[in-house]
Amino acid sequence: MTRKIAVLAGDGIGPEVVGEAIKVLNRIDTSFEFEHALVGGAAYDDGGHPLPQSTLDLCRKADAVLLGAVGGPKYDKIQPPELRPEVGALLPLRSELNLYANVRPAKTIDALSSSSPLREGRGKMDLVVMRELTGGIYFAKPRERRDGGDTAVDTCIYRRHEVVRIAERAFEIARQRRNEIVSVDKANVLETSRLWREVVTEMAGQNQDVKVSHMLVDNCAMQLVRDPSQFDVILTENMFGDILSDEASMITGSLGLLPSASLSDPKDGQVFGLYEPVHGSAPDIAGQGKANPIATILSTAMMLRYSFKDNEGALRIERAVEQVLNEGLRTADIMSDGCRPASTIEMGDAIADCL
Ligand code: NAD
Repeated sequence: MTRKIAVLAGDGIGPEVVGEAIKVLNRIDTSFEFEHALVGGAAYDDGGHPLPQSTLDLCRKADAVLLGAVGGPKYDKIQPPELRPEVGALLPLRSELNLYANVRPAKTIDALSSSSPLREGRGKMDLVVMRELTGGIYFAKPRERRDGGDTAVDTCIYRRHEVVRIAERAFEIARQRRNEIVSVDKANVLETSRLWREVVTEMAGQNQDVKVSHMLVDNCAMQLVRDPSQFDVILTENMFGDILSDEASMITGSLGLLPSASLSDPKDGQVFGLYEPVHGSAPDIAGQGKANPIATILSTAMMLRYSFKDNEGALRIERAVEQVLNEGLRTADIMSDGCRPASTIEMGDAIADCL
């Protein structure tokens, strides 16, 4: 199996955290091939576009993509807005690479329970939000103003095949976890949700090894706060997934810890994916050695699990992160009394040494 990884470090703290993630991957296996390309503000500075064709070509030839983060105040006023890093690089990367399945795990770590807004006593959380990423109300047309601007229109469209393919990825991921899917919709009101529920129900009949239930999105938002331990895989459409994944991730306590994957169709038995931390380029701390590399390191664990079918390697990385945190090492964003401070590089070194 080839394991070619396109590395798009990006802007701000991107290069710092990506460097530590590569260090960890090299400790797992020395046969990964890394090829680097510019993206975001760095690419705009270099050649006037945040997503050069050469970068896109490199991603298409790779088996997986590792992305840092893009953007920063320097690029906020670029005209036209389509050339700004987030709009001109992130959105086209998702659509050009057909990354329709966004996977966001959220897991509480005992050593950091004091940083969770829900604190102890609410049960452990270890769930994945599986969000449809390229359809629904964020993409469908028309999106416009009428009546001289006083009426606004957004459109929500889902097609059967879009629901089928994201549900297929959710069944695969549920099988690697605890075999349970809660499909979240608003089927009491929305037609797109009724189609969603119909398709997922049909697929549940064909995949009876996975337990499938349905929940309305308002109830799910409430249940996540009441008892997040009840969920394994939450499968949902674009806008609901956007909101629920942010809610779930903050229950864990820190932005610097959260990985994510965006997956495409399986090709020759391998799932192509783009792996990145949930956080942005953090310009306020860039270049100071303060960034927490854990979210990016945990994104490489997802890469091993989903694109390279190396669950053992993924577990080794996840255990190494937990061990280093249990031993009391902390970057500034997760610092608490009695713990030892670490720079970005020191945190990466400690996790790599654990492996
Ligand atoms: P941000 O996630 O970059 O930062 C929010 C806060 O969290 C900051 O105080 C930052 O210092 C802190 N933080 C973030 N990651 C951290 C880490 N790994 N370790 C320690 N602290 C960390 O969000 P923002 O400030 O709203 O956005 C900054 C830039 O990033 C903007 O240009 C935004 O558009 C861009 N952005 C990019 C992505 C992406 O590339 N996927 C995602 C979100 C934001």
